[in-house]
Amino acid sequence: MDTLQQIEEMGHEQVVFCHDPTSGLKAIIAIHDTTLGPSLGGCRVRPYASTDEALQDVLRLSRAMTWKSALAGLDLGGGKCVIIGDRSDNSEARFRALGRHIQGLGGRYITAEDMNTTTVEMEWVRKETAFVSGLHPLDGGTGDPGPVTAYGTYFGVRACLQHTFGSADPKGRRVAIQGVGSVGMGLARHLADAGAELVLSDINMDRARSAAAEFGAKAVEPDAFYSADVDVLAPCAIGGVINPKTIPLLKAPIVCGAANNILGDDERDGLDLMGRNILFAPDFCVNAGGIISVFGEVRRYGQQSAMVRAERIEQTTLDVFAHATSDGVPPVRAAIAIAQHRIDSVRALRRI
Ligand code: NAD
Repeated sequence: MDTLQQIEEMGHEQVVFCHDPTSGLKAIIAIHDTTLGPSLGGCRVRPYASTDEALQDVLRLSRAMTWKSALAGLDLGGGKCVIIGDRSDNSEARFRALGRHIQGLGGRYITAEDMNTTTVEMEWVRKETAFVSGLHPLDGGTGDPGPVTAYGTYFGVRACLQHTFGSADPKGRRVAIQGVGSVGMGLARHLADAGAELVLSDINMDRARSAAAEFGAKAVEPDAFYSADVDVLAPCAIGGVINPKTIPLLKAPIVCGAANNILGDDERDGLDLMGRNILFAPDFCVNAGGIISVFGEVRRYGQQSAMVRAERIEQTTLDVFAHATSDGVPPVRAAIAIAQHRIDSVRALRRI
Protein backbone atom coordinates (compact mmCIF):
# COMPACT_ATOMS: atom_id res chain seq x y z
CA MET A 1 0.00 0.00 0.00
CA ASP A 2 1.43 3.41 -0.83
CA THR A 3 1.67 6.16 1.78
CA LEU A 4 -1.25 8.27 0.57
CA GLN A 5 -3.47 5.18 0.41
CA GLN A 6 -2.49 4.28 3.98
CA ILE A 7 -3.17 7.80 5.21
CA GLU A 8 -6.57 7.70 3.55
CA GLU A 9 -7.36 4.35 5.15
CA MET A 10 -6.27 5.43 8.65
CA GLY A 11 -8.05 8.77 8.32
CA HIS A 12 -5.15 11.20 8.67
CA GLU A 13 -5.61 14.79 7.54
CA GLN A 14 -1.99 15.70 6.99
CA VAL A 15 1.48 14.21 7.31
CA VAL A 16 4.47 16.53 7.17
CA PHE A 17 8.04 15.44 6.55
CA CYS A 18 10.44 17.97 8.11
CA HIS A 19 14.10 18.51 7.35
CA ASP A 20 16.64 21.07 8.49
CA PRO A 21 20.12 20.74 6.96
CA THR A 22 21.86 22.91 9.58
CA SER A 23 20.78 20.98 12.65
CA GLY A 24 20.27 17.61 10.93
CA LEU A 25 16.60 17.51 11.91
CA LYS A 26 14.62 14.72 10.27
CA ALA A 27 11.11 14.51 11.63
CA ILE A 28 7.57 13.50 10.71
CA ILE A 29 4.51 15.26 12.10
CA ALA A 30 1.20 13.42 11.69
CA ILE A 31 -2.07 15.26 12.17
CA HIS A 32 -4.77 12.64 12.41
CA ASP A 33 -7.98 14.55 13.09
CA THR A 34 -8.72 18.14 14.12
CA THR A 35 -12.52 17.96 14.28
CA LEU A 36 -12.61 18.46 18.06
CA GLY A 37 -9.72 20.92 18.25
CA PRO A 38 -6.05 21.33 17.43
CA SER A 39 -4.15 18.06 17.28
CA LEU A 40 -2.00 17.53 20.36
CA GLY A 41 0.51 14.79 21.03
CA GLY A 42 4.07 14.35 22.18
CA CYS A 43 7.29 14.51 20.22
CA ARG A 44 9.46 11.43 20.59
CA VAL A 45 13.07 10.88 19.56
CA ARG A 46 14.07 7.38 18.42
CA PRO A 47 16.81 5.98 16.22
CA TYR A 48 14.29 4.39 13.83
CA ALA A 49 15.85 1.87 11.47
CA SER A 50 14.06 3.40 8.48
CA THR A 51 11.79 6.24 7.45
CA ASP A 52 8.97 3.74 7.04
CA GLU A 53 9.37 2.49 10.63
CA ALA A 54 9.14 6.11 11.85
CA LEU A 55 6.13 6.73 9.61
CA GLN A 56 4.26 3.65 10.89
CA ASP A 57 4.94 4.71 14.50
CA VAL A 58 3.75 8.29 14.02
CA LEU A 59 0.63 7.23 12.08
CA ARG A 60 -0.45 4.75 14.77
CA LEU A 61 0.40 7.03 17.70
CA SER A 62 -1.36 10.10 16.26
CA ARG A 63 -4.55 8.12 15.59
CA ALA A 64 -4.51 6.82 19.16
CA MET A 65 -4.23 10.44 20.38
CA THR A 66 -7.44 11.26 18.50
CA TRP A 67 -9.26 8.42 20.29
CA LYS A 68 -7.70 9.27 23.65
CA SER A 69 -8.73 12.94 23.63
CA ALA A 70 -12.17 12.27 22.17
CA LEU A 71 -12.92 9.63 24.79
CA ALA A 72 -11.67 11.87 27.61
CA GLY A 73 -14.08 14.59 26.46
CA LEU A 74 -11.30 17.04 25.58
CA ASP A 75 -11.62 19.62 22.78
CA LEU A 76 -8.50 18.28 21.12
CA GLY A 77 -7.62 16.34 18.03
CA GLY A 78 -4.86 13.76 17.65
CA GLY A 79 -1.35 14.38 16.46
CA LYS A 80 2.16 13.20 17.08
CA CYS A 81 5.73 13.97 16.03
CA VAL A 82 8.69 11.64 15.68
CA ILE A 83 12.28 12.72 15.26
CA ILE A 84 14.57 10.18 13.64
CA GLY A 85 17.76 10.28 15.67
CA ASP A 86 19.44 9.64 18.96
CA ARG A 87 18.66 11.41 22.20
CA SER A 88 22.33 12.42 22.47
CA ASP A 89 21.84 14.57 19.34
CA ASN A 90 19.04 16.65 20.92
CA SER A 91 20.14 20.27 20.52
CA GLU A 92 18.70 23.75 20.66
CA ALA A 93 19.27 24.12 16.91
CA ARG A 94 17.34 20.93 16.17
CA PHE A 95 14.35 21.76 18.37
CA ARG A 96 14.25 25.39 17.21
CA ALA A 97 14.07 24.03 13.66
CA LEU A 98 11.23 21.75 14.69
CA GLY A 99 9.54 24.76 16.32
CA ARG A 100 9.65 26.64 13.01
CA HIS A 101 8.02 23.70 11.21
CA ILE A 102 5.31 23.55 13.90
CA GLN A 103 4.78 27.32 13.62
CA GLY A 104 4.24 26.82 9.90
CA LEU A 105 1.27 24.59 10.68
CA GLY A 106 -0.47 27.59 12.24
CA GLY A 107 -1.77 25.83 15.37
CA ARG A 108 -3.09 22.67 13.73
CA TYR A 109 -0.52 20.72 15.79
CA ILE A 110 0.61 21.39 19.37
CA THR A 111 3.61 19.43 20.56
CA ALA A 112 4.56 18.14 24.02
CA GLU A 113 7.24 16.01 25.62
CA ASP A 114 7.37 12.25 25.05
CA MET A 115 9.95 9.48 24.87
CA ASN A 116 13.47 11.03 24.96
CA THR A 117 12.24 14.62 25.16
CA THR A 118 11.81 16.71 28.31
CA THR A 119 10.81 20.21 29.36
CA VAL A 120 14.28 21.32 28.18
CA GLU A 121 13.55 20.43 24.54
CA MET A 122 10.06 21.96 24.80
CA GLU A 123 11.61 25.23 25.99
CA TRP A 124 13.77 25.25 22.84
CA VAL A 125 10.67 24.65 20.69
CA ARG A 126 8.93 27.52 22.47
CA LYS A 127 11.60 29.96 21.32
CA GLU A 128 10.14 29.57 17.81
CA THR A 129 6.44 28.85 18.38
CA ALA A 130 3.69 29.14 20.99
CA PHE A 131 2.19 25.81 19.86
CA VAL A 132 3.95 23.78 22.53
CA SER A 133 2.89 22.39 25.91
CA GLY A 134 4.45 20.26 28.63
CA LEU A 135 6.56 23.11 29.94
CA HIS A 136 8.16 23.35 33.36
CA PRO A 137 5.89 24.82 36.09
CA LEU A 138 8.35 27.73 36.49
CA ASP A 139 7.70 28.55 32.82
CA GLY A 140 3.94 28.45 33.20
CA GLY A 141 3.53 24.76 32.43
CA THR A 142 1.83 21.94 34.33
CA GLY A 143 5.05 19.93 34.56
CA ASP A 144 5.31 16.15 34.76
CA PRO A 145 2.00 14.55 33.66
CA GLY A 146 3.00 11.23 35.32
CA PRO A 147 1.12 11.78 38.62
CA VAL A 148 -2.15 12.61 36.81
CA THR A 149 -1.68 9.59 34.51
CA ALA A 150 -1.14 7.35 37.54
CA TYR A 151 -4.19 8.76 39.30
CA GLY A 152 -6.40 8.28 36.22
CA THR A 153 -5.14 4.72 35.73
CA TYR A 154 -6.05 3.99 39.36
CA PHE A 155 -9.64 4.98 38.52
CA GLY A 156 -9.47 2.75 35.45
CA VAL A 157 -8.50 -0.17 37.72
CA ARG A 158 -11.45 0.65 39.98
CA ALA A 159 -13.80 0.47 36.97
CA CYS A 160 -12.39 -2.96 36.04
CA LEU A 161 -12.91 -4.24 39.58
CA GLN A 162 -16.48 -2.90 39.57
CA HIS A 163 -17.26 -4.56 36.24
CA THR A 164 -15.69 -7.90 37.19
CA PHE A 165 -16.40 -8.27 40.91
CA GLY A 166 -19.31 -5.87 41.49
CA SER A 167 -17.24 -3.61 43.76
CA ALA A 168 -14.68 -0.97 42.78
CA ASP A 169 -12.92 -1.17 46.15
CA PRO A 170 -9.28 -2.28 45.72
CA LYS A 171 -9.01 -3.35 49.38
CA GLY A 172 -7.73 -6.91 49.53
CA ARG A 173 -7.39 -7.17 45.71
CA ARG A 174 -4.07 -8.33 44.29
CA VAL A 175 -2.52 -6.19 41.52
CA ALA A 176 0.73 -6.87 39.63
CA ILE A 177 2.43 -3.82 38.13
CA GLN A 178 5.00 -4.07 35.32
CA GLY A 179 7.37 -1.09 35.42
CA VAL A 180 7.73 0.96 38.58
CA GLY A 181 8.73 4.21 36.90
CA SER A 182 6.92 7.52 37.08
CA VAL A 183 3.43 6.13 36.41
CA GLY A 184 3.87 2.61 37.86
CA MET A 185 5.11 3.97 41.20
CA GLY A 186 2.26 6.47 41.37
CA LEU A 187 -0.28 3.75 40.62
CA ALA A 188 1.31 1.49 43.26
CA ARG A 189 0.98 4.27 45.83
CA HIS A 190 -2.74 4.84 45.14
CA LEU A 191 -3.46 1.11 45.22
CA ALA A 192 -1.42 0.54 48.39
CA ASP A 193 -3.21 3.45 50.10
CA ALA A 194 -6.51 1.82 49.15
CA GLY A 195 -5.47 -1.50 50.72
CA ALA A 196 -4.52 -3.53 47.64
CA GLU A 197 -1.77 -6.19 47.78
CA LEU A 198 0.95 -5.53 45.21
CA VAL A 199 3.29 -7.62 43.10
CA LEU A 200 5.93 -5.44 41.44
CA SER A 201 8.22 -6.15 38.52
CA ASP A 202 10.69 -4.08 36.55
CA ILE A 203 13.48 -4.79 34.10
CA ASN A 204 15.57 -3.00 36.72
CA MET A 205 15.22 -5.47 39.62
CA ASP A 206 16.82 -3.08 42.14
CA ARG A 207 14.05 -0.63 41.41
CA ALA A 208 11.41 -3.38 41.78
CA ARG A 209 12.89 -4.52 45.11
CA SER A 210 13.14 -1.04 46.58
CA ALA A 211 9.54 -0.26 45.52
CA ALA A 212 8.41 -3.58 47.02
CA ALA A 213 10.12 -2.69 50.29
CA GLU A 214 8.34 0.67 50.33
CA PHE A 215 4.88 -0.89 49.92
CA GLY A 216 5.38 -4.18 51.76
CA ALA A 217 4.88 -5.82 48.35
CA LYS A 218 6.41 -8.79 46.54
CA ALA A 219 9.01 -8.20 43.80
CA VAL A 220 9.11 -10.68 40.91
CA GLU A 221 11.43 -11.16 37.94
CA PRO A 222 10.22 -9.48 34.69
CA ASP A 223 9.09 -12.75 33.05
CA ALA A 224 7.05 -13.81 36.11
CA PHE A 225 4.78 -10.79 35.69
CA TYR A 226 2.56 -12.41 33.05
CA SER A 227 1.67 -15.51 35.07
CA ALA A 228 1.22 -13.69 38.40
CA ASP A 229 -1.73 -15.09 40.34
CA VAL A 230 -3.48 -11.76 40.84
CA ASP A 231 -6.79 -10.02 40.11
CA VAL A 232 -5.26 -7.32 37.88
CA LEU A 233 -2.19 -7.13 35.64
CA ALA A 234 -1.13 -3.51 35.11
CA PRO A 235 1.46 -3.05 32.33
CA CYS A 236 3.06 0.36 32.97
CA ALA A 237 6.38 0.01 31.12
CA ILE A 238 6.32 -0.57 27.37
CA GLY A 239 3.82 -1.32 24.59
CA GLY A 240 3.04 -4.59 22.80
CA VAL A 241 3.46 -6.79 25.89
CA ILE A 242 0.08 -8.52 25.65
CA ASN A 243 0.38 -10.63 22.52
CA PRO A 244 -0.01 -14.23 21.29
CA LYS A 245 3.13 -15.24 23.23
CA THR A 246 2.06 -13.85 26.60
CA ILE A 247 -1.74 -14.25 26.51
CA PRO A 248 -1.63 -18.05 27.17
CA LEU A 249 0.39 -17.30 30.36
CA LEU A 250 -2.19 -14.97 31.91
CA LYS A 251 -4.02 -16.05 35.07
CA ALA A 252 -5.45 -12.64 35.99
CA PRO A 253 -9.03 -11.89 34.90
CA ILE A 254 -8.19 -8.20 34.25
CA VAL A 255 -5.51 -6.34 32.26
CA CYS A 256 -5.49 -2.59 32.93
CA GLY A 257 -2.35 -0.45 32.72
CA ALA A 258 -0.94 2.87 31.57
CA ALA A 259 1.54 1.78 28.90
CA ASN A 260 0.62 3.00 25.40
CA ASN A 261 -0.46 0.31 22.90
CA ILE A 262 -0.42 -2.58 25.41
CA LEU A 263 -1.81 -5.03 22.85
CA GLY A 264 0.49 -6.21 20.09
CA ASP A 265 -2.50 -5.91 17.75
CA ASP A 266 -5.76 -4.29 18.90
CA GLU A 267 -8.12 -6.50 16.90
CA ARG A 268 -6.36 -9.87 17.15
CA ASP A 269 -5.38 -9.67 20.82
CA GLY A 270 -8.56 -7.87 21.89
CA LEU A 271 -10.65 -10.72 20.48
CA ASP A 272 -8.33 -13.37 21.99
CA LEU A 273 -8.65 -11.81 25.48
CA MET A 274 -12.42 -11.57 25.14
CA GLY A 275 -12.57 -15.23 24.12
CA ARG A 276 -10.65 -16.15 27.30
CA ASN A 277 -12.95 -14.00 29.46
CA ILE A 278 -10.14 -11.63 30.38
CA LEU A 279 -11.27 -8.01 30.70
CA PHE A 280 -8.98 -5.56 28.90
CA ALA A 281 -9.26 -1.84 29.66
CA PRO A 282 -8.12 0.09 26.55
CA ASP A 283 -4.92 1.91 27.48
CA PHE A 284 -5.92 5.06 25.57
CA CYS A 285 -8.97 5.22 27.85
CA VAL A 286 -7.32 4.69 31.25
CA ASN A 287 -4.03 6.55 30.64
CA ALA A 288 -5.70 9.81 29.51
CA GLY A 289 -4.54 11.57 32.69
CA GLY A 290 -1.41 12.68 30.85
CA ILE A 291 -3.29 14.46 28.07
CA ILE A 292 -5.77 15.84 30.62
CA SER A 293 -2.79 17.36 32.47
CA VAL A 294 -1.23 18.77 29.30
CA PHE A 295 -4.57 20.18 28.10
CA GLY A 296 -4.63 22.12 31.39
CA GLU A 297 -1.75 24.13 30.03
CA VAL A 298 -3.70 25.01 26.88
CA ARG A 299 -6.93 25.80 28.75
CA ARG A 300 -5.19 27.21 31.82
CA TYR A 301 -6.71 24.92 34.44
CA GLY A 302 -4.27 23.75 37.10
CA GLN A 303 -3.02 20.35 38.24
CA GLN A 304 -5.71 20.18 40.93
CA SER A 305 -8.45 20.48 38.33
CA ALA A 306 -6.65 17.91 36.16
CA MET A 307 -6.77 15.44 39.06
CA VAL A 308 -10.53 15.90 39.43
CA ARG A 309 -10.99 15.41 35.67
CA ALA A 310 -8.83 12.25 35.83
CA GLU A 311 -11.28 10.73 38.34
CA ARG A 312 -13.91 10.73 35.56
CA ILE A 313 -11.89 7.99 33.86
CA GLU A 314 -13.68 5.50 36.15
CA GLN A 315 -17.08 6.32 34.62
CA THR A 316 -15.70 6.57 31.08
CA THR A 317 -14.17 3.09 31.44
CA LEU A 318 -17.44 1.70 32.81
CA ASP A 319 -19.27 3.23 29.81
CA VAL A 320 -16.81 1.50 27.47
CA PHE A 321 -17.44 -1.87 29.15
CA ALA A 322 -21.22 -1.37 29.03
CA HIS A 323 -21.04 -0.55 25.31
CA ALA A 324 -18.77 -3.56 24.69
CA THR A 325 -21.13 -5.89 26.55
CA SER A 326 -24.24 -4.68 24.77
CA ASP A 327 -22.59 -4.92 21.34
CA GLY A 328 -20.72 -8.16 22.10
CA VAL A 329 -17.39 -6.64 21.02
CA PRO A 330 -14.00 -6.25 22.72
CA PRO A 331 -13.64 -3.05 24.82
CA VAL A 332 -11.03 -1.61 22.43
CA ARG A 333 -13.55 -1.67 19.61
CA ALA A 334 -16.22 -0.16 21.85
CA ALA A 335 -13.88 2.62 22.99
CA ILE A 336 -13.02 3.51 19.39
CA ALA A 337 -16.71 3.54 18.49
CA ILE A 338 -17.55 5.94 21.36
CA ALA A 339 -14.65 8.23 20.42
CA GLN A 340 -15.63 8.16 16.75
CA HIS A 341 -19.27 8.87 17.60
CA ARG A 342 -18.24 12.06 19.43
CA ILE A 343 -16.08 13.17 16.51
CA ASP A 344 -18.85 12.41 13.98
CA SER A 345 -21.41 14.37 16.06
CA VAL A 346 -19.21 17.46 16.10
CA ARG A 347 -18.44 17.07 12.40
CA ALA A 348 -22.20 16.97 11.73
CA LEU A 349 -22.71 20.16 13.77
CA ARG A 350 -20.18 21.92 11.59
CA ARG A 351 -22.07 21.00 8.43
CA ILE A 352 -25.31 22.63 9.67
P1 NAD B 1 9.25 5.58 33.03
O1 NAD B 1 10.37 5.56 32.08
O2 NAD B 1 9.26 6.54 34.16
O3 NAD B 1 9.09 4.12 33.68
C1 NAD B 1 9.12 2.95 32.95
C2 NAD B 1 9.61 1.82 33.88
O4 NAD B 1 9.45 0.59 33.19
C3 NAD B 1 11.06 1.94 34.27
O5 NAD B 1 11.21 1.69 35.66
C4 NAD B 1 11.76 0.84 33.44
O6 NAD B 1 12.89 0.29 34.09
C5 NAD B 1 10.65 -0.18 33.33
N1 NAD B 1 10.76 -1.05 32.16
C6 NAD B 1 11.15 -0.73 30.90
N2 NAD B 1 11.09 -1.79 30.10
C7 NAD B 1 10.62 -2.82 30.86
C8 NAD B 1 10.32 -4.17 30.59
N3 NAD B 1 10.52 -4.68 29.37
N4 NAD B 1 9.86 -4.93 31.60
C9 NAD B 1 9.67 -4.43 32.83
N5 NAD B 1 9.94 -3.13 33.15
C10 NAD B 1 10.40 -2.35 32.17
O7 NAD B 1 7.93 5.76 32.13
P2 NAD B 1 6.50 6.30 32.60
O8 NAD B 1 6.41 7.77 32.36
O9 NAD B 1 6.19 5.73 33.94
O10 NAD B 1 5.56 5.64 31.49
C11 NAD B 1 5.26 4.27 31.54
C12 NAD B 1 4.36 3.90 30.36
O11 NAD B 1 3.16 4.68 30.41
C13 NAD B 1 4.95 4.17 28.98
O12 NAD B 1 4.50 3.17 28.10
C14 NAD B 1 4.35 5.50 28.58
O13 NAD B 1 4.28 5.64 27.17
C15 NAD B 1 2.97 5.38 29.19
N6 NAD B 1 2.33 6.66 29.44
C16 NAD B 1 2.93 7.54 30.28
C17 NAD B 1 2.32 8.76 30.53
C18 NAD B 1 2.94 9.78 31.45
O14 NAD B 1 2.26 10.75 31.80
N7 NAD B 1 4.19 9.59 31.91
C19 NAD B 1 1.08 9.08 29.91
C20 NAD B 1 0.48 8.13 29.08
C21 NAD B 1 1.13 6.93 28.86
